Amino acid sequence: MSRAYIGLGSNLDNPLAQLRHATAALANLAVTTLVATSGIYRSRALGPGEQPDYLNAVVALDTTLDPLALLRALQAIEQAQGRVRGERWGARTLDLDLLLYDDVVLDSTELTLPHPRMAERDFVLYPLAEISDTRNLLPGAPDLATLIERCADNGLSHTGWQLGQ
Ligand code: ATP
Ligand code: CA
Ligand code: CA
Repeated sequence: MSRAYIGLGSNLDNPLAQLRHATAALANLAVTTLVATSGIYRSRALGPGEQPDYLNAVVALDTTLDPLALLRALQAIEQAQGRVRGERWGARTLDLDLLLYDDVVLDSTELTLPHPRMAERDFVLYPLAEISDTRNLLPGAPDLATLIERCADNGLSHTGWQLGQ
């Protein structure tokens, strides 16, 4: 059994419902158990042009899917929830990023682990810290508490909402 952390994001078509729907889909994946869910945060879009704010959260899964099979399962859930691939970092109904998979380090065309941009993203680090041990979570990187201290303030806020309610 492996532990995986998934970052969820949405800024189109009722983001709160998108995140909750995606959480249910993750919980229903074969050979996978949903073990923890973070609170839901609001962040400013970092992509091109004017975009609505995002809602973001992180969940922890225990799974026997291998990393690539898990990535493909995430992409299938994105597709099922109407993700249209357009401009890079464009607005989307659902984005599911595989942040961490045990302490696997991998760099292939399809999958990089840990997720290469997670260490600078407040909308990943704060929800991740809610549901994980903050010591040495990222292989070869400072601990999560240090990354949070170093992270630039981009106006992240907690909505007060939970994924599971
Ligand atoms: P970012 O990766 O900066 O968060 P994004 O989520 O908008 O941007 P996508 O368009 O969703 O990027 O994904 C682009 C590609 O990234 C995917 O086709 C996927 O193969 C690849 N990828 C590499 N590593 C990962 C990972 N750890 N999790 C999810 N996708 C990944
Ligand atoms: Ca992303
Ligand atoms: Ca993605």
